[in-house]
Amino acid sequence: MRKLYLDCASTTKIHPEVLAAYTNLLKDEYYNVDALYDNATKIKKMMEKSREVTANLFNVKADEIIFTSGASEANSLAIKGLALCYQAQGKHIITSAYEHASVLNAMKQLETSFGFEVTYLKPNEHGIITAKMVQELLRDDTILVSIMHVNNEIGAINPVEEIAKIVKYESNAFMHVDQTQALGKMPIILNDIDLASFSAHKIEGIKGSGILIKKKHVELLPLINGGQQEQNLRGGTSNALVNILFAKTLRLALENQERYQEKMINLHDHLLVALQNIPQITINSLEPSVPTIINFSCSTLTSEVMLNALNARGIMVSALSTCHSKQQASHVLESLGYDHQRIIHSLRVSFDHHTTFEDLDYFIDNLKEIIKIYD
Ligand code: PMP
Repeated sequence: MRKLYLDCASTTKIHPEVLAAYTNLLKDEYYNVDALYDNATKIKKMMEKSREVTANLFNVKADEIIFTSGASEANSLAIKGLALCYQAQGKHIITSAYEHASVLNAMKQLETSFGFEVTYLKPNEHGIITAKMVQELLRDDTILVSIMHVNNEIGAINPVEEIAKIVKYESNAFMHVDQTQALGKMPIILNDIDLASFSAHKIEGIKGSGILIKKKHVELLPLINGGQQEQNLRGGTSNALVNILFAKTLRLALENQERYQEKMINLHDHLLVALQNIPQITINSLEPSVPTIINFSCSTLTSEVMLNALNARGIMVSALSTCHSKQQASHVLESLGYDHQRIIHSLRVSFDHHTTFEDLDYFIDNLKEIIKIYD
């Protein structure tokens, strides 16, 4: 059976060059980078070179890069690490209601276990959080604003640089941005942003690999205690090989971003028009959004039915509202004010530069057939 992967916002296939380099290194380079013999220091040098290259690509300093196990850890470290460090200066935080679970659950923990007050902003009619919305909520005791650049379920693009400017010049708060879904899709400008989280496996890298960019003036309380690794902020023997490959993964992603920009927009428009021509379908994604994510609902079929029927035909997509219960419906679509029926009938299609027009036509043909069968 033909297999078609349209769940690239969830994860991506490893880039062949990254895979080849990783396989090569895995064979022999097992040394602990903190050991003092030559075999270990050679790997340590490669890891530090990757840190430097990564820093250059983001226009920051090498010692502002903290290697982590991915964006969930980077988000947790940024949010809890900062809040616990600066709690004497204030206990108010601003975030959005449609952040990733790694942000929302860190916020919940700060509220329930550490007495913080968190304000959750609902996106506006375009599905975004504006600088003005944040500006109106800033208080003297606000210590952190955390807003994602691109939403992982609907693709909405937030004006994070503009928000960061307001936060920097009109408050004492720090600005954190979850950049996971923006990386490789659009320019990342970190001038006024204090903390930013990234993940490798969303850009054809290896799972369990990510970084937190922490500007020099920001202090954090470490969440993983251990040795002196990552400036004492993240104890544990370094996952040196994936850290070494972060720079390569990033470089390849940035090259592909430029090369495939037009193709992604054309694929998006092609899929959008085809979906809009199906009477049972309503588009949930709004503008501005990344071209590679389209979220929609089908009035006659639940997410679960669509997901299973597509899966039976080898087509892999995702939906966060596979459950009928209100609690487990997508919090992202809920934050947009969509009704429950629309939410539990939603589906997310996400693609990358490997996807072809023919793939999308195949998806649409199958979706139409499924809608007809269940009618
Ligand atoms: N933030 C966003 C917006 C994401 O989409 C994801 C991955 N689904 C994460 C954070 C977590 O990334 P990781 O898998 O590297 O922990």
